[in-house]
Amino acid sequence: MFKALLLTQTPEGATQAALASLPEADLPEGDVQVEVAYSTVNYKDALAVTGRVPVVRKFPMVPGIDLAGTVVHSQDGRFKPGDAVLLNGWGVGETHWGGLARQARVKADWLVPMPAGLDARAAMAIGTAGYTAMLCVMALQERGVVPGAGPVLVTGANGGVGSIAIALLARLGFEVHASTGRMSEGEHLKRLGASALIDRASLGAPGKPLQKERWAAAIDSVGSHTLANVCASLTYGGTVAACGLAQGMDLPASVAPFILRSVTLAGVDSVYAPMARRLQAWARLAAELPADMLEANTETIGLQDVPALAPRLLAGQVRGRVRVDLAA
Ligand code: NDP
Repeated sequence: MFKALLLTQTPEGATQAALASLPEADLPEGDVQVEVAYSTVNYKDALAVTGRVPVVRKFPMVPGIDLAGTVVHSQDGRFKPGDAVLLNGWGVGETHWGGLARQARVKADWLVPMPAGLDARAAMAIGTAGYTAMLCVMALQERGVVPGAGPVLVTGANGGVGSIAIALLARLGFEVHASTGRMSEGEHLKRLGASALIDRASLGAPGKPLQKERWAAAIDSVGSHTLANVCASLTYGGTVAACGLAQGMDLPASVAPFILRSVTLAGVDSVYAPMARRLQAWARLAAELPADMLEANTETIGLQDVPALAPRLLAGQVRGRVRVDLAA
């Protein structure tokens, strides 16, 4: 038997989350079984646990879009018992039982060997949010964004993606501006590496198609009017890496920044990113993020605490990353 957070659906369609003790025989098909040491609570996990958006495609479901732990059984030559591994995405926690459980059975193709320099605890201080932040940084760098070009804006600054994006950009020598609804966390954002704070209210309402040129690039996890205003405020030839929808899924923008300022809108998906790109992102995360910064940006909770935390995260009341200790 193993413990898990189990999501079920009432006949009326409401999602219910409860701790459960499940037999290993119930684990889904897969060629590698992992004893999970840590998982995390990402924005998408909070949507799944609360049922606010139909992230979960079949019930009962164990949520958790990422995990880190140790291989206990393997039918695949690439992995053997005792190997340290991590996993992000691939529909895990949405269509396939996920990481908010002590045991997970997954496809070998989905697993990333633990990068040198990280263990399960540190990897899940990064989690899917941090890995996505790195994919965004890579998207900017591949499009020629360099520190000398001008300041880079990070929206959703206190969130999982935003906080790690700030730290990564600052370590690379960029001047980082942080947009947040929580100016009270300004000191934390400055410790992460932000040099200027922007009140997110100034970006969250409908704005003009072209605005004052302020940022050479941006990493946006907010979407909606914020992303539209960011596009309108990039300098000529600027790039925004867009990965999220914390304000909304809509994009009420005009083509003006693209056709008059050669702005690039670079979309970033982490869920189905190819393995080679994941390995590159995780190797860089292991090398470029200081351990003390990760710990200061991370709260650790037990599995039983996840249902109460999820609505707080969706309400934007959680700072940084949330790691879940499955051995606790
Ligand atoms: P968090 O909840 O940790 O962070 C989101 C942050 O956005 C909040 O902390 C808050 O920051 C800000 N925010 C919240 N509500 C609003 C609002 N109404 N208007 C403006 N800003 C708001 O989430 P994550 O960092 O884990 O994820 C961020 C987004 O990125 C989510 O939409 C998520 O689905 C998406 N995502 C996408 C991935 C992909 O593969 N494309 C992978 C991972 C995440 P502050 O208080 O500082 O303003």
